Amino acid sequence: MRDIIIIGSGPAGFTAAIYAARAELKPLLIASSVEIGGELMNTTEVENFPGFPEGIMGPDLMGKLQAQAERFGTEVVYDDVVSLDIDGPVKRVTLGNGETHEAAALIYATGSAYRKLGLPEEEVLSGHGLSWCATCDGFFFRQKTIAVVGGGDSAMEEATFLTRFADKVYVIHRRDSLKASKIMQQRAADNEKIEFVWNSEVAAIQGETAVTGVTLRDTVTGEERLLELDGLFVAIGNDPRTHLVHGKLDLTAEGTIWVDGRTSKTSLPGVFAAGDVIDPHYRQAITAAGSGTVAALDAEHYLAAQGNVHAAEALLENEFVSVD
Ligand SMILES: Cc1cc2nc3c(=O)[nH]c(=O)nc-3n(C[C@H](O)[C@H](O)[C@H](O)COP(=O)(O)OP(=O)(O)OC[C@H]3O[C@@H](n4cnc5c(N)ncnc54)[C@H](O)[C@@H]3O)c2cc1C
Repeated sequence: MRDIIIIGSGPAGFTAAIYAARAELKPLLIASSVEIGGELMNTTEVENFPGFPEGIMGPDLMGKLQAQAERFGTEVVYDDVVSLDIDGPVKRVTLGNGETHEAAALIYATGSAYRKLGLPEEEVLSGHGLSWCATCDGFFFRQKTIAVVGGGDSAMEEATFLTRFADKVYVIHRRDSLKASKIMQQRAADNEKIEFVWNSEVAAIQGETAVTGVTLRDTVTGEERLLELDGLFVAIGNDPRTHLVHGKLDLTAEGTIWVDGRTSKTSLPGVFAAGDVIDPHYRQAITAAGSGTVAALDAEHYLAAQGNVHAAEALLENEFVSVD
């Protein structure tokens, strides 16, 4: 049986692996079979991850995190976890290839998925004028004309935030009223850079190598028209990847995995969670990485309490860390 299994190969999973591996806990990290490296594999330049003053391409950053985790002894498996047996002291993880792995502690870092519009162009234009994250990409749209799709609080927040950069921000919404809170609606409505496009859905995204506009379809009349744009932000929701732990771990009202305060402790002993799967608000690479650190240290405490010598020694080296 292993000390730690980590599920997920995003910034949270690999950072947890770096800490666990340096504590000589020889973590096994299940990376998934197709989405290895997590959400940052879908983007181009990352300019807000500390330590890279010139910026770094998303896949390069993830390659470095993986190399750092492997350097200290993390074993990476390229498969998906298909089922979990985590109630008892031994955590069992079954993979798509039928293999089962066991560990004393589990770190669950499966991230969350931004909802997509379901258009084929999304795959090609992601990171090329098409984004799901205003905090990450707003900076690239200085003095541009852009649009935000959505009608909830996060769409209003993204649109309002984007007016710091863009000259014009359309908010495209399929109905004639918003589901955002009154205060967020009012803030957006009062902003002279924001213009609402009601009863409209995006039928197609235009552009070969970068977004040049969208084809809008009127949801009442079915009429189509072209809206020229430099960028498009999709803010129609987010789904934490929790399907494997439904009925096993407590979830929050927002659908994220419940953790105890600022720790990574879930409702089951020995099961820790980190990254976007526990985070309804911030969802950044660096917050996910920080959260992975917390999970690894919490897991070390848990293992040390069970008599794991490596975990106890690692905690002594970091004696300033106390999370009890
Ligand atoms: C297009 C885009 C651009 C972004 N740009 C930035 C940016 O510039 N700066 C920034 O700070 N943030 C950015 N973000 C946000 C950032 O990517 C996320 O906050 C961060 O990746 C979350 O890390 P995570 O480790 O929690 O999850 P993720 O990165 O989502 O990784 C989760 C991993 O778990 C794996 N997984 C899920 N289920 C299973 C399973 N059953 N078995 C095995 N593996 C599984 C997934 O395949 C994935 O590899 C961007 C996001 C997107 C979508």
